[in-house]
Amino acid sequence: MGLHKNQQGQNLNFTLVPKIGILTLFALLFSTCKVQDLAFQEGKTAKNVIFLIGDGMGLPHISAALYSNGNRLNLEQFTHTGFQRTYSANDLITDSAAGATAFACGQKTYNQAVGMTADTLPCRTILEELQEAGYATGLIATATIVHATPAAFATHQPLRWKYEDIAADLSDADVNLLVGGGQRYFDRRNQDERNLLEEMKERGYDVKSYLEGELSEAMLTRSEKLIYLAGDKHPLTRAAGRNYLPVAVQMGAFYLHRLNKKGFFLMAEGSQIDWGGHSGEGQLVIEETLDFDEAVGKALNFARRDGETLVVVTADHESGGMAINPGSEMGDVKAAFNHNGHTATMVPVFAYGPSAELFDGVYENTEIYHKMRAALGLPRVEAATAGTR
Ligand SMILES: [Zn+2]
Repeated sequence: MGLHKNQQGQNLNFTLVPKIGILTLFALLFSTCKVQDLAFQEGKTAKNVIFLIGDGMGLPHISAALYSNGNRLNLEQFTHTGFQRTYSANDLITDSAAGATAFACGQKTYNQAVGMTADTLPCRTILEELQEAGYATGLIATATIVHATPAAFATHQPLRWKYEDIAADLSDADVNLLVGGGQRYFDRRNQDERNLLEEMKERGYDVKSYLEGELSEAMLTRSEKLIYLAGDKHPLTRAAGRNYLPVAVQMGAFYLHRLNKKGFFLMAEGSQIDWGGHSGEGQLVIEETLDFDEAVGKALNFARRDGETLVVVTADHESGGMAINPGSEMGDVKAAFNHNGHTATMVPVFAYGPSAELFDGVYENTEIYHKMRAALGLPRVEAATAGTR
């Protein structure tokens, strides 16, 4: 978030934060980590899950990023791949809210629903279940943290744009790590006078924002709960200076691991890939997908060293009906878009780590929920209201 720092001048007070070099920090953190070789056993259950969602990231988006990056992506390192069907309960074309709720609750719901079933009842999310079972939890996004995808894992609202209601839900959800934009929904609210950030401090949160310094410094906190707000509304694009997603995933995994709970569940979203699809900007899609892929690399590095972490990468849907048109060359992709919204094409799933083989095949988006639970050794639950209606 260097750009923000420059915009805000140089008088930032870092005296409360020890000046430890990032490399030193990682060396320290690694030394507390059980280092294993890559040979985790297939079929073994996972202790931790890092779930990475590229919003709107279909195969064309991945391919365009690949061909724009010297024909290399971290996504190539995954050992197991599948495809999932993204449709929601009321529309072949899902939105991000129903898509994220399918992953979070294992149920198809209507577009706009955040953590709610098709019958508008709150559904218990995998994050909430694991939190109750003693796991550490984290949510990271490059949109506001009250945006549909992160919101669906820890809040329950019938309509996704009720951002202030979502912020209020999130403020007492006790998620250990929250990173994203949207500060104004917490401390300058229209619908009431509450300052949710003050309330969160009282609940034990270390509250930090981009105005107070880099995320990497905020994450040195000794607190068991941290919210880092990376903007008043949506954070910048990667091209405009946002750089926290790979750092947040890398340090977030260490942060949650260091809490030494039963395990951890970390969801991180590359939120703005979708926006390139909506606006028909191929370059934005490529830059945001490469940023997301860098975060994927950080998650894989952690999982390789840890040996007990499942990494799952997918998208909630494809955005833009994107194509790589004739005239494209390696390093010079001519992207075209068929539509300014989402499409119903299947999207890929990538998995690495214990039980990654569960993610092979072709299945519904709701199966991601069931497969993550199975990977953690939890018995299957059958949702009463699953499926289309
Ligand atoms: Zn979208």
